[in-house]
Amino acid sequence: MSDTEHTDSNTNPNAEQNVAQNAEQNAAPNAAASKHAFQAEVRQVLDIVVHSLYKDRDIFIRELVSNASDALEKLRHIQLTEKDTADSGASLEINVTSDDTAGTLTIADTGVGFTREELVENIGTIAHSGTKAFLRAIKENGGTNENLIGQFGVGFFSVFMVADQVDIYTRTWRPDGESLHWSCAGGGDYTVEPAASDEKRGARIVIRLKPEYKDFASADRVKELLLRYSKYVPVPLHLNGEKLNTVQALWLKNKSGITEEEYKEFYKFQCHAYDEPLDWLHFNADAPLLINALLYFPASNAEKAGFGRMDPAVALHCRKILIDDAPKGLLPDWLRFLRGIADSADLPLNISRETMQDSALVQKLNRVLTKRVIKHLVELATRDVERYEKFWREFAIYIKEGIITDYEYRDALAPLLRYQTNVTDAGKTASLDDYVSRMKESQKAIYYLAGPDRETIVHGPHIEAFKARGLEVLFLCDSADEFVMSHLGKYKDKELLAGDQADLDLGDAPESAGEPLPSERVKTLCEWLKTELGNDTQKLAAVEAGQRLVDSPAVALNADKFMSAAMRRMMRAMGQENDAAASGVKLEINPRHGLIHKLDALRDTDPSFAKLLAGQLFDNALLAAGLLENPRAMTSRIYEILEAAAARKS
Ligand code: ADP
Repeated sequence: MSDTEHTDSNTNPNAEQNVAQNAEQNAAPNAAASKHAFQAEVRQVLDIVVHSLYKDRDIFIRELVSNASDALEKLRHIQLTEKDTADSGASLEINVTSDDTAGTLTIADTGVGFTREELVENIGTIAHSGTKAFLRAIKENGGTNENLIGQFGVGFFSVFMVADQVDIYTRTWRPDGESLHWSCAGGGDYTVEPAASDEKRGARIVIRLKPEYKDFASADRVKELLLRYSKYVPVPLHLNGEKLNTVQALWLKNKSGITEEEYKEFYKFQCHAYDEPLDWLHFNADAPLLINALLYFPASNAEKAGFGRMDPAVALHCRKILIDDAPKGLLPDWLRFLRGIADSADLPLNISRETMQDSALVQKLNRVLTKRVIKHLVELATRDVERYEKFWREFAIYIKEGIITDYEYRDALAPLLRYQTNVTDAGKTASLDDYVSRMKESQKAIYYLAGPDRETIVHGPHIEAFKARGLEVLFLCDSADEFVMSHLGKYKDKELLAGDQADLDLGDAPESAGEPLPSERVKTLCEWLKTELGNDTQKLAAVEAGQRLVDSPAVALNADKFMSAAMRRMMRAMGQENDAAASGVKLEINPRHGLIHKLDALRDTDPSFAKLLAGQLFDNALLAAGLLENPRAMTSRIYEILEAAAARKS
C-alpha cells in the first residue's frame, strides 16, 4: 500500500473517492514522495479564499502565528509528560523573517511539528469547527461573502489570500520523526516529500507572496501586524532577529505581583493613552467560564470632550491572541468608556464578528464583566469617595444611560447615582442610600426637583413646601435625570416622586406666618383667576389654594404626572407643540401671601389692573417652573404694570 492510500484512507471521510483520484494523480518520483488531493471541503475553502477580494487580508499572519504559538504550547505540555522529545535543547520560540526582494515571508516555530500523517490529516482535511462554520455561513449567505473570511479566519488556509505558493518544512517532536516538505501552489492538491536537508523540530512555513501582495514581505508592514495581533504571544516572537513581544500579558499575571506603576504603564501601552487611568479592575474567574480581564477607567471622557461616540475599546483575546480589538457584544453599550483587555481561553479564536453578539459564550462573558464592573464601582464609591466623585463627574451619563436603556442592570446601577440636594453643601452630592438614611419616619417617598442648576431650584417656588417641612429634595440638573427617575420608579421600595406634581401629598404644613384669606374669598378668587387666565394658550387645568407655599404668592404645578417639565421641553424641541401644551398646568396660590390679598381686593376696586397682575402672576409661576412658552406677551405687560406703578407714585 502506498503512503498516499494509507494516510488518506485513515483520515479522510471521502477516502474512497480520493484513493481513486490519487491513484491517477499520484506521480510520486519515489516511495516517500506523494501527491494528495485536498478533501472536497478544503478545496471549497481554498477556492473561496483565493478568489475573494477580502480587504483585511492581513489576518493570515495572526492565524499562522497563533498556530505556531499553539504548537509550542503543545510541545511544552509534551515536554512535561514525555521523556523523549527531539531537540529537547531547542528553545521555544517563533521566528518570522521577511525578504522583500524574494517576496517571501517565513514563519518558523520550534513546536510539535508534523508527522507525515499529521500533514495530511491536519492540513489536508477540515476537522476543526471554525472552518466548518465558515462553510455553513457561506452556504447560508448564498455564495461568497468576502467578509466571512475575516470573521472566521479559516485558519491556515487564509494564507492563500496572499500567497501563490506555500511550503512547510517540518520535523515532528517524536524522536524518530523524519524531515518533511509539504508544498502547495494553491490548487486542489499538494505534495509531501522528504525534505532536502535536515529540519529542526517544529514547522517552518515559507510563504511566496503573490506579486500584488508583496508588501507583506516588507519588514515594517509585518512588524506592524505582529504588534497588532500577536504582541502578547506567550513565547518569544522575533522578526528578522528582533524580539517583538517585550510586554507581558499583565492580565494573566497574579495581581499581588503587579505594581501600580506596571498597571499604569500597561494602560499607556495597550490603550495608547498618554495620561494615567482613573482606576482599574483586574480579575480572574473560573466559573461560569474562564476569564482574565484588566479593565481601565480612563481619567476623562472623550465623548464629553466632543470626540463623538466612542467605539468599544476592551479588546477581546483568547489566550493572549487578539480576536477583536473593538468587539461589539462584549460589554453593554453604556460601558463603552471602558478600555483594556478581556481574555477567555474558552473562546474559539476565529469566532465571527457577526455572530459575536449572538454567541452564548460572549453573552456570558458580557454578563460576568458587567456585574464585576458594577460591583467594582459600588465598592469604589465607599472605599475612595474622592476618586468615585471624579468618576461620576466624567462618566455619570453612562450610568444614567444604563438605567434608561438596560433593564437588566437598572436596579444594580441605582446605588451609583449621585445628586446634589437641599441638604448637601453646594457642589457635594448624595447617593440614594444617603437620602434614604436621612428620611423622616413618616416620609414615604423620595422627592426630586428638576432645573437647569442648583441655584435655580434653590430659589424657585417648588422647593418651599419641602423646606417648610424639613424634607430633603434631590436636584436633577441633567436632562437625562427625569428619565432616570421615571425608569427607576422606585428605590428600595420608596417611590421616586417629582416635587412639581400637583397631586403630591406632603402631609400637614407647619404653622406659617400671615393670615389666610377667608375661604369664601379664596374660592371666588380662584374661580376668577381660572376665567381670566383660561384663554391663555397654555392649558390651565385648575387654580387652587394650597399649603405648599411660604414665601411665593403662586406656583405652577404639573397636573400630568406622566409629563414632566423636561419632557414638555423635549417635545416642544421636537416640534410636538400640541402634545406638549395639551397636558395641563395647575396654578396653586398662597392664600397667606400679601400679593394675593391685594389682588383679591383689586378685583373689586380696579378690575383691569387686577387682570394685568393675574396674568403676570401666572407667567412668573410658569417661568419659575421652566414652562413659559412665549415670553413676548410678558414684556409688554410688565411695561403696563410699571406704568401704573409709576403713575401711583408720582
Ligand atoms: P485551526 O488552527 O483552527 O485548528 P488550521 O487550519 O489553522 O486550523 O490548522 C489546522 C491544524 O494544523 C491545527 O489544528 C494543528 O493541529 C495543525 N497545525 C497548524 N499549524 C501548525 C504548526 N505550526 N505546527 C504544528 N501543527 C500545526
